[in-house]
Amino acid sequence: MENCIFCKILAGEIPSKKVYEDDFVYAFHDIAPAAPVHILIIPKEHICCMNKAEESHKELLGHILLTAQKLAKELGIADSGYRIINNCGENAGQTVFHMHFHLLGGDTFTKLV
Ligand code: 5GP
Ligand code: ZN
Repeated sequence: MENCIFCKILAGEIPSKKVYEDDFVYAFHDIAPAAPVHILIIPKEHICCMNKAEESHKELLGHILLTAQKLAKELGIADSGYRIINNCGENAGQTVFHMHFHLLGGDTFTKLV
């Protein structure tokens, strides 16, 4: 997808600090970490946001969550706890329109819900 920062990261056109990769997802450190551990997990397929996820993405979405769980263990935040966030659209403050899940840990977070 042209002009998508995360597609450019996937293509290696923009450097990133990789944490994990497989055929379906790519995980890397957020450039402006909001917590001691702040990883972004993105699908390799360009999907703009949760609004555009479909039935056919069911397995991919499950895989993203289980990847977050796996990385939380590997990064040592599984026991202390972590938060997984997906921002969808303007009101949620989404700034990059390639669907992504934030994995945050190493700190305590204000409870939103
Ligand atoms: P959103 O606000 O859309 O939920 O999250 C976008 C995230 O992408 C932000 O936390 C922002 O810091 C991160 N980000 C934006 N551009 C880049 C980049 O070029 N590299 C990396 N590693 N993270 C980025
Ligand atoms: Zn993209």
